[in-house]
Amino acid sequence: MTVGESPPATLLCVHPHPDDEAISCGGVLARAAATGIRPVVVTCTGGEEGENLAGIDLGGRHLADLRREELADALHALGVEHHHWLGYRDSGMVDTPGNEHPDSFHAADLEEAAIRLATIIRAERPQVVVSDDEHGGYGHPDHIKANRVTVRAVELAADPQAEVPGEPWQVAKRYVHTLGRGRLLEGHRAMLEAGLPSPFGEDDLDGPEAVPFGVDDALVTTEVEVGPWFDQKQAALRAHRSQIGEDSFFLNVPDDLTESFFGVEQFVLEEGTLGPEQPEQDLFAGIVHEAAASEGRA
Ligand SMILES: [Zn+2]
Repeated sequence: MTVGESPPATLLCVHPHPDDEAISCGGVLARAAATGIRPVVVTCTGGEEGENLAGIDLGGRHLADLRREELADALHALGVEHHHWLGYRDSGMVDTPGNEHPDSFHAADLEEAAIRLATIIRAERPQVVVSDDEHGGYGHPDHIKANRVTVRAVELAADPQAEVPGEPWQVAKRYVHTLGRGRLLEGHRAMLEAGLPSPFGEDDLDGPEAVPFGVDDALVTTEVEVGPWFDQKQAALRAHRSQIGEDSFFLNVPDDLTESFFGVEQFVLEEGTLGPEQPEQDLFAGIVHEAAASEGRA
C-alpha cells in the first residue's frame, strides 16, 4: 500500500460534554496535533445542564450557546480542527429531572446513538478511539452512556452488515481514559506539602485505595507524556470559562507541581493489541501510520 492510499493517522476522542475534552484528553489531543496525527473530537451533548459556575452574565442567552463558543475556543487552543456534535441534550447529574428529558443522552436509544457515532467513525476512519470508562469516571449518567455508545459504535463501524452509512472501518485500538490512584495520591501529597488546598481535602490519605476515584495503577496500560503541551491544555481549560473559573484547582496548580498532576495522561486499552513496550507511552504504539513513517516515530 502506498502512503497516498492509507488514511491519515487519526485519533478520535468521544466526550459527553463541552469541557470534558480539555479535562480528560487535552494533553493527548494537543500532542497529536503537534506530531502529525489528526485529532477529532465528538461531543455527545451541548452541556445544557451545566451550571454557570463562574456567574457569567449571559445577556439573555442560554448557557448552551455560551458553551458552544467555549468549546470552539478550547478546540482551537488544542489545535483540533475536526469536531462533531452527536446531537443529544445534557442529562444532568444522576437522579435529576434532566435525566428524563426526551432529548437527553441518558434517555437516548443506545443503538440509535451508536449508529450516529459509527457514521462519524466510518467518515473519519480513526485508528485510535478514546472514551470514558464503564463507570463514567465519576458516575455521571452521560459519561457512562458515552462509554456504552462508543463500545457499540466501534463494533458497528466495522460490521459490513450494519446499517450504517459509509464504508466499514475497523478501529485498531480502543481506549478509556483513566486516572491511576498512585499518581492522584502523589499529587495530593505534593499539594499538602506545599501548603496548598488539594482537591481531596486536607487529610493525608492512607494509601492509594483511600483516593475517592481513579483506578488501581496496575490497570493502567498506557501513560502518555503530555508535559510539553500543558500550556495548551491549560488554555483549553481556561476557555471553558463558565465551568472552570479562575479559582479552579485546574488553573492554580503551582508550576513545580504541574508535572505531578498534568505531566501524563493515563489510559486503559480495552480493544486491540498493546504496543511492544509496556507500559505504552503512545496511543499509536504498534500502529504503522503515515506520521510515524514520515517522522521516524515508532
Ligand atoms: Zn462531563
